[in-house]
Amino acid sequence: MQIQNNINLINYNTFKVKSIAKHFVQIQNESEIVSLLNDPIYLQNKKYFLGSGANTIFVNNFDGLVIKINILWKEILSENDDEILIKVWAGENWHNFVLRCADNNFAWLENLAYIPSSIWASAVQNVWAYGVEAKNIIQTVDGINLDTKEFQTLKNKDCNFGYRDSIFKNELKDKFIITHVVFRLKKFKTNYKFNCEYTGINEKISQLWLDLSKMKISDFVEVITQIRKEKLPDWELIWTAGSFFKNPIIPKKQRETLYVRFPELKWFDSNWAIKLSAWQLIDLCGFKWKNNWKVGTYKNHALILVNEWTATGQDIKDFAEEIQIAVQNKFNISLEPEAIFVE
Ligand SMILES: Cc1cc2nc3c(=O)[nH]c(=O)nc-3n(C[C@H](O)[C@H](O)[C@H](O)COP(=O)(O)OP(=O)(O)OC[C@H]3O[C@@H](n4cnc5c(N)ncnc54)[C@H](O)[C@@H]3O)c2cc1C
Repeated sequence: MQIQNNINLINYNTFKVKSIAKHFVQIQNESEIVSLLNDPIYLQNKKYFLGSGANTIFVNNFDGLVIKINILWKEILSENDDEILIKVWAGENWHNFVLRCADNNFAWLENLAYIPSSIWASAVQNVWAYGVEAKNIIQTVDGINLDTKEFQTLKNKDCNFGYRDSIFKNELKDKFIITHVVFRLKKFKTNYKFNCEYTGINEKISQLWLDLSKMKISDFVEVITQIRKEKLPDWELIWTAGSFFKNPIIPKKQRETLYVRFPELKWFDSNWAIKLSAWQLIDLCGFKWKNNWKVGTYKNHALILVNEWTATGQDIKDFAEEIQIAVQNKFNISLEPEAIFVE
């Protein structure tokens, strides 16, 4: 384990924001975490744990220690005719894991293809896409509790998974380093039912002249990947952190007043609340494909901010605040960023 000084993080975040970390360390195995916890640089500095940086915006230089957990490995814990339990180490790349599972005919995570993420962040963020959430397939999350410095296993129900949320963003924020996640997956059989709840999936399948009843997991992964590449900016080519704000949830009684003034608003109903589409609110405030040269909204999706040209973290933060103020003033709704500003 080597702690480096003054490292530029531009290649460690998908927004490609330049930020100099005072200290930076990459961790390759669990014993290195234990040594790090006793290192004076760790003890004397503020810290930030970094995955693939797809949800992180460094606002300025980081006057502390950035820790990147790169522990790689996968292991089958148990299997029967129907299901399989796989333990995956934190630093593995999420999309590669989805691809390997597809190659091996392991189902249930195909709708989550092509999300830029590390394995641990899939649990931190409870990654969600096309009707499937990571919480549906996570069995346990293992890691080190920084208060007790002991290894601990959290069962799925103890992780308090919610909409793009978990205990790791709340009570255990900065207190628990995830080292592995155990996933429970389904073995693919010919009668397997793909989740096509999202309407665009069936459209894409017929556009590609595929027959759902004959599709393999890898075909489905390809369908999802193509949909994402068309709708969302390709994170391998465009600098972004994906959806920038959470879809706001408002109480049912607020809906009545809102819909008198804005009948065009789309919403999703649940028993106690209404979820609105953040992109539509942003769109209606005039931010459709708007930019200030350095940072702007993506041409196909107003919820996605993109770094147009050498934007700093501060430029992105300012632009995001401009959007929040406009939405607040027009709809009296506060947008909560999904991306994490690190200062
Ligand atoms: C183009 C694009 C599309 C996207 N689409 C989706 C989507 O469809 N669905 C979705 O859910 N998300 C989506 N996202 C958001 C992003 O991919 C997810 O939030 C992802 O899980 C972030 O992973 P990461 O490894 O890059 O996290 P990072 O940004 O590196 O870190 C995220 C958080 O995890 C914490 N953390 C890091 N390591 C550890 C550890 N070992 N233990 C505990 N906590 C730790 C960090 O401190 C930070 O708070 C998208 C992003 C982009 C750029």
